[in-house]
Amino acid sequence: MQKVIILSGPSGVGKNTLGDFLLQQFPDLSYSVSATTRPIRKGEEEGKDYYFMNREAFEEKIRNEEFLEWQEVYEGTYYGTLKSELDRINQLNKFPLLVVDVFGALNVMKNLKFKPLSLFIQTKDLDILRQRLELRGADAPERIEKRLQKAEVEMHEFDKFDLTIINDDLLKAQQQVTSIVNYFLKFSN
Ligand code: 5GP
Repeated sequence: MQKVIILSGPSGVGKNTLGDFLLQQFPDLSYSVSATTRPIRKGEEEGKDYYFMNREAFEEKIRNEEFLEWQEVYEGTYYGTLKSELDRINQLNKFPLLVVDVFGALNVMKNLKFKPLSLFIQTKDLDILRQRLELRGADAPERIEKRLQKAEVEMHEFDKFDLTIINDDLLKAQQQVTSIVNYFLKFSN
């Protein structure tokens, strides 16, 4: 039985936090490690956070059709889900949890031969997202503006997902994703 869960939404909505929470709650889930061309950050590990590679290596994998989906999420930076990653997780008898950007998620839905559970995470409005990105302090002001512009476009895609979760109250969002995923893993086929 094949089941895939996709968590998506604009940058800064807390999809990674919710993803980590789900991985703790459900031992049957396994994090799908993406490939990226962005530089490794402090504290990250090769093969655990991402498969880090240069542009040439990534583009070769695109040509060889090794990706289920890939996107140039930010100018000059590729991210993608390798088909081999889903096979690896399948071999473990687990179900992949994909935490990917919005257009990547839409492509996963298009390319899979079966229906995944797709969850769109968002904040109530863009002002809250702006505050979060500013508080996170990871980006310079121009980058925050770029992320917000991208978020505005991405927000329109929510209706292509099974469900939307507003992550303004983390505890509430955690409860919601837990019951949805629990239902999906137990009852869907
Ligand atoms: P970061 O560089 O902060 O880890 O991730 C930047 C963005 O890329 C996030 O929105 C993240 O969800 C997205 N991302 C990570 N992996 C993938 C992937 O495999 N495919 C796509 N399309 N987006 C990804």
